[in-house]
This record gives sequence, structure tokens and C-alpha cells, in this order.
Amino acid sequence: MSEEIQSKATESAAPAAASAGPSAGPRGPRPAGGGPGGRGKFFRRKKVCKFCTEKIDSVPYRDVRLLQGFIAERGKIVPRRLTGVCTTHQRRLTRAIKQARNIALLPFASGF
Ligand SMILES: [Zn+2]
Repeated sequence: MSEEIQSKATESAAPAAASAGPSAGPRGPRPAGGGPGGRGKFFRRKKVCKFCTEKIDSVPYRDVRLLQGFIAERGKIVPRRLTGVCTTHQRRLTRAIKQARNIALLPFASGF
């Protein structure tokens, strides 16, 4: 009786282990999902500095339309990682935006 149980146990255990081997091959079985490209929320802009490509050395603080591309709805300056502006130009841009705010071309905070 006990023999039978033992043999059954080993029998059932062996194939399971064998089948787990190949299927768990590269990185284990993974349910479909996640897919390519996790960040779909923000559409990705080309990650090159706009000012570098257009060879704008100093950011014109009077160009409101240009600056508005780099501030959010609420009047906040959009971080560099979202706009793709390089460090140098982001700093100049920030200064330009603050300058523009001071002469009331741009809002410090808009709405609400
Ligand atoms: Zn740049």
C-alpha cells in the first residue's frame, strides 16, 4: 500500500520537474502584458535640444510663444527630462522664463 503511494508520488513529481525545465527556460514563463514600451502616457518627443538644433544661443525672453512650449498649463517650467533640452539651454531657458514672468509676459501660476 505504502509502496504504491510512494511510486505514484515520485512518478507525478518527475514529469512536473522535467516540464518546468524547458518552459521556464530564458526567464520563466511570463503572462502576456507589459509589452514593448512601458511609457505610453506621454508621447515621446525627439530627445534633442531644440535650441541646439536651431542654433539659438541665448534664449529670447521676449519670445513668449517659444517659451510657452516649455511651461506647463499651470505656469510651471517643464523639466528637462520631458522636453529634451540640454542642460545649458535649460538653464538659459529657465532664466528667460523668469525674466518673462517679471515683465508679465508669462504667468507665475495660471488658473485656479
Ligand atoms: Zn542645447
